[in-house]
Order: sequence, then structure tokens, then C-alpha cells
Amino acid sequence: MMTFQQIVLASHNAGKLKELQAMLGDTVQLRSIGEFSSVEPEETGLSFVENAILKARNAARISGMPALADDSGLAVDFLGGAPGIYSARYADGKGDAANNAKLLDVLKDVPQEQRGAQFVCVLALVRHADDPLPILCEGLWHGRILSEASGEHGFGYDPLFWVPERNCSSAELSPADKNQISHRARAMSLLRQRLGLA
Ligand code: IMP
Repeated sequence: MMTFQQIVLASHNAGKLKELQAMLGDTVQLRSIGEFSSVEPEETGLSFVENAILKARNAARISGMPALADDSGLAVDFLGGAPGIYSARYADGKGDAANNAKLLDVLKDVPQEQRGAQFVCVLALVRHADDPLPILCEGLWHGRILSEASGEHGFGYDPLFWVPERNCSSAELSPADKNQISHRARAMSLLRQRLGLA
């Protein structure tokens, strides 16, 4: 069993660090890659797994510490898994509202039963930059894409993502509730098991 006291998180987003730290528990301390560098690597992979590993290796190389990275996005069945790894820049970098408008438009004639989708999160943990055996944990959260936005919480595609187990959109969930059942929560729960923390 690998034990870690500190792990660098390959993200400059303070909110993400706080959320993942809360899910991980306080046995392991997450530190921000921002303490070591402000440069972000280009995400050149074709899959969530490739991009998560690439970011984790980069963070381990820069910090000299074990590193954790997450890569996430929305995969829509009707679109063959798009926007997938391009979720954040689906509407060419114009932001969440433009991404959502584009998705609604692309799916406007698609009936309910063909609007299945999943939020995906892959966590990659490397012990060092050249680790040949990264720990990989995947979390999938199944739902459906609504025909119009609903709800005020969350970010990204949350207002368009119908959560069957709660009968509402993920933007209508409280942040605490979302953090119990989301793709990130599922991936982090697996990571806790792999690290012997659960
Ligand atoms: P990141 O990997 O956290 O940067 O997320 C990539 C993109 O996927 C975000 O910009 C969102 O568009 C989308 N995304 C990932 N997770 C969520 C979520 O929990 N809710 C809504 N959108 C998400």
C-alpha cells in the first residue's frame, strides 16, 4: 500500500483543490501546483486518461513530488462522446453560456430517449514524473441533456444535465449534494480505496 503525506494537485483552481481535499479527507494534504509554477501544460491527449496523466506527470516534474491530476467533461451519447475532452472549449473558448447554447442547438431535434449523457472524471496519480504505473480512477455520472437550462448552482453544463436519481438538473442540487454523487465524487471514492483511506 502506497502512503502519501502530501500530493501536488495539477490545478491552479483553488475551488477544485478545496473540493478534492474535502473528498480525500485530511490524512493526505493536497498542495497547489501554483506554488511551483504558473505555466499550464498543453492538453494534447485524445482522451481524459491521456490528459490526466500528462498533467500529473508535468506537475510531478515541476514540483518533485507525487502528483494528482483530474480531467473531466461531458460525453453525450448522440454525439459519439463529444464534447468530451473539449468540453471547456466546445464553443471556441466563449465560455459556459456559449457552450450550453451550442449543445442545446446541436441537440434541438433529438428526442428525449436519445439524449443520454455522462459527466466523466478521470483522476491520475503518479508517484514521480516518469512513473510507469499511474493510479487511474474513473467516475461516470449518468444523466440526460435537457431541452432548456434549469437551476442556478454549479458551473459548466450543470443547468443542462438531468440527474435521474434526484429528479432535477445538477444545477438544482445543493453543492454538498452534488459533491456526494458527482463524477468527481465517484472517482475520488475509488482513489480513497486505492490509497487505503476508505
Ligand atoms: P475541468 O476538467 O474541471 O476543467 O472541466 C472541463 C469542462 O468540463 C468544464 O469546463 C465544464 O465545461 C465541464 N465539466 C466538468 N465537470 C463538470 C461539472 O461537474 N458540471 C458541469 N460541467 C462540468
